[in-house]
Amino acid sequence: MNFIETRGNDGIKPEEVTFSEAILSPSASFGGLYVPKELPFLEENFIQNHIDKSYKELAYNILKAFKIDIDDEEINKALDLYDNFDEASNPCPVVKVKDDLFVHEQYHGPTRAFKDMALQPFGSILSSIAKKRDEHYLILAATSGDTGPAALNTFKNKENIQVACLYPDGGTSDVQRLQMVCEDGDNLKVLGIHGNFDDAQSALKNLLSSESFKKELEDDGIKLSAANSVNFGRIIFQIIYHFWSYIQLLKQEEITFGEKIYLVVPSGNFGNVLGGFYAQEMGVPVEKLLVASNENNILTEWINTGIYDIRDKDLKLTKSPAMDILKSSNIERVIYSLYGAKRTKEFFDDLNEKKIFKMTEEETKKLQKYFAAINSDDKYGAKIIKDFLDDGYLMDPHTATCLKAYEELKEKELKTVIYSTAEWTKFSPTVLNALHKNNISYADKEALETISKEYNAKQPDSIKKLFTAKVNHDLVIDKNDIEKEIVKFIRNN
Ligand SMILES: *Cc1c(COP(=O)(O)O)cnc(C)c1O
Repeated sequence: MNFIETRGNDGIKPEEVTFSEAILSPSASFGGLYVPKELPFLEENFIQNHIDKSYKELAYNILKAFKIDIDDEEINKALDLYDNFDEASNPCPVVKVKDDLFVHEQYHGPTRAFKDMALQPFGSILSSIAKKRDEHYLILAATSGDTGPAALNTFKNKENIQVACLYPDGGTSDVQRLQMVCEDGDNLKVLGIHGNFDDAQSALKNLLSSESFKKELEDDGIKLSAANSVNFGRIIFQIIYHFWSYIQLLKQEEITFGEKIYLVVPSGNFGNVLGGFYAQEMGVPVEKLLVASNENNILTEWINTGIYDIRDKDLKLTKSPAMDILKSSNIERVIYSLYGAKRTKEFFDDLNEKKIFKMTEEETKKLQKYFAAINSDDKYGAKIIKDFLDDGYLMDPHTATCLKAYEELKEKELKTVIYSTAEWTKFSPTVLNALHKNNISYADKEALETISKEYNAKQPDSIKKLFTAKVNHDLVIDKNDIEKEIVKFIRNN
């Protein structure tokens, strides 16, 4: 299957590209993104036929339905990486917490956040394509704390790939920072920058479109790619687990086939919930996708009003930092699906020029058929974390934002799956503040140990060993020096 562009074609880039091409160079005409030409058709009993299948089998069959230009051997090698998750046959368990509420735990991979679900297999596929073509790629990643560790982990020592990862210094947890700066592998460069996540992301976008930088890389025989969720190579793996949600509820006999469910997704760049949207389009019986945000309520505003307005908005730093966002990239793919390329280009031209776009009332209604949204603040999150642990379930602050949607957005009495995007170990100071009802600023190590001891919660070895690991990357630089540092890294490799 081929891929086309969300903002139409500029007459220079090809009108259609293969999956390999879309993931190797993910930026499309006019700054748009690649989307599948059409979503695959699944046979009638696809979902029922997978009730007794493993996650890997489900994933394989969904990937095959997309008819991607990747050999079976490479697909299987990529999917085998799910064997490294806590439970190989069930890498993302769906756990019942009460009557109609289920938590889909997406954090059982190597870096303890949901980014592993897609980045683990994506890293393997990208490296294999690059190798097959005898091409060398530089992956630039900007991270608010979870993408970086997951990208570094998946690409470390992978052939034909180098990674430069930018993180906002002081904007991540200790665990997240250590997961990045302690990662080894000659093909990795980790740079802290002075600024917030949006600064890091803008710097990355500038570099991706900088002709001078591209020229410098070309001279070294290196092409640029990206591993953030603008890359469809990640999105394709984010469709699968929404099928898994439904299949697990069927398997647990909580629903009968055809019964609709709510999916609640804590959102930032909109990749996770976009996967849910595609899964719904491909046949998963979803009543509605409920989008949870934190105090950065741009997605809530957009879905509730049809207006995306960042004119007077500043990024707020919250306790659910992976959702701190102003410009959410993957809404573009939903907009394309619902209103076509012409409108998509108009909206994003407006957003670039005027920092605002407005949909018509009719367009907004259409959006609201699929999505509803709500936001909550850190105080609410703290209360949820405490209340749920009192009932025996420990969750992280991103997951906690979902409960607001569960409590207030449901219009029907249907089973609800909330997505748990990070393990508590990644945000332990916030979790301990919630449990002890205080504002003491704990170091991660202290918080991890206290929570483990007082609440009998298990820390995985991958987290414990971080605190004695060797730091391999200690640079924190100014935004203006990023290009220089990256060029130096390339030259030395
Ligand atoms: C990345 C991330 C999110 C946001 O996911 P998007 O796909 O960007 O919407 C939410 N929670 C955690 C813990 C994350 O790492």
